[in-house]
Amino acid sequence: MKKNIVNRRKILIICIDAGSYDYLSASEIPNITKLAELGFLQQGNSVIPSVTNVNNVSIATGAFPNKHGITTNYYVDRESRKGEFIEDNRFLLSPTLFEEAKTTKFADTTALFVTKKKLLRILEKGADIQVAAEDPPEEFIESIGDVEPIYSIEINWWLLRAVLYSIQKYDPELIYCSTTDWVQHKYPPEHEISQRHLSELDKIIGDIVEQDPEREIYITADHGMLDKTTALDPARILQQGGIQADSIPIIKDRYVVHHGNLGGAAYVFLNDPNDLNEAIKNLINTVGIEEAYSAEEAAQNFNLHPERIGDIFLLADEHTVFGELQVGKETVSIRSHGSRHESYVPIIGYNSPWSKSDFKFNLDIGRLFLESLK
Ligand SMILES: [Zn+2]
Repeated sequence: MKKNIVNRRKILIICIDAGSYDYLSASEIPNITKLAELGFLQQGNSVIPSVTNVNNVSIATGAFPNKHGITTNYYVDRESRKGEFIEDNRFLLSPTLFEEAKTTKFADTTALFVTKKKLLRILEKGADIQVAAEDPPEEFIESIGDVEPIYSIEINWWLLRAVLYSIQKYDPELIYCSTTDWVQHKYPPEHEISQRHLSELDKIIGDIVEQDPEREIYITADHGMLDKTTALDPARILQQGGIQADSIPIIKDRYVVHHGNLGGAAYVFLNDPNDLNEAIKNLINTVGIEEAYSAEEAAQNFNLHPERIGDIFLLADEHTVFGELQVGKETVSIRSHGSRHESYVPIIGYNSPWSKSDFKFNLDIGRLFLESLK
């Protein structure tokens, strides 16, 4: 139950899925704006590839993928080429913020709130309170109301209300909350539904601040979201030049309604490692492919785990996505992410002991918190 200890440090980290600055600035969000004015707003970076798993895990462990090991939504074993969705913590190599907060006695109570169950399973270690809005505990349904559909804006509102309820009832010292980005995949920043989504989230954030004005609050995003008009299949493109390979869009997950498994970053697995240089040359000369790196270069440039990426790491240009297609190139009309172009995210801090210049990446929220526990 609620404790009455004064001056207890308490933290809430909110990751608004695809909550990039273009979305925030197109909506009426007076409460978030006020938090930024009283604290700071930094234009920061997400981890590349700019996908959900990679960035949420980075924030919630305070580390880059070279340490925590999550480099994709869909893991492919380099030797066997067997692939599987990352939906639990078997691949996670780092402790979560919750575990660290518990072992250092920073927190009596830690809480994790996410929209999707799979993210809950990935990050759950050390979290005393665990809520996935998709399938929440009975107590939260009784208090907040019925479960909302996964493809709705209401499910994210439900989630933030659950955070408010947990503060009222349990007052956890550390809370991490992450929404889902169905709405941004469907609607651009200036669309009325998108604006309504963020305005209501803002209203609930205002209620949280009113309830708990002393709490440190950080608001950031895992990635942005942009319109895409072209899809490429790197494996088919290589095949046309006589090179055999598999290509995995890093965004690939079971929630295909969001993005059709088309995203702005891909790992390519070559059948013959001797094809590396020629394959990179072919790919970088393809219109729509902006950057192509060997595994070694990619691991170094983007702090990725060298054994958990393909032989080649590709980033698309602003209008292009990678997928597993029937042809090398297709015209598409979707909104998606994954590339460098969706890797710019706001970092808002309120009641923070740190200043704006301490934050370069979204994961610095977790990193600085961990350092402060030492
Ligand atoms: Zn996301």
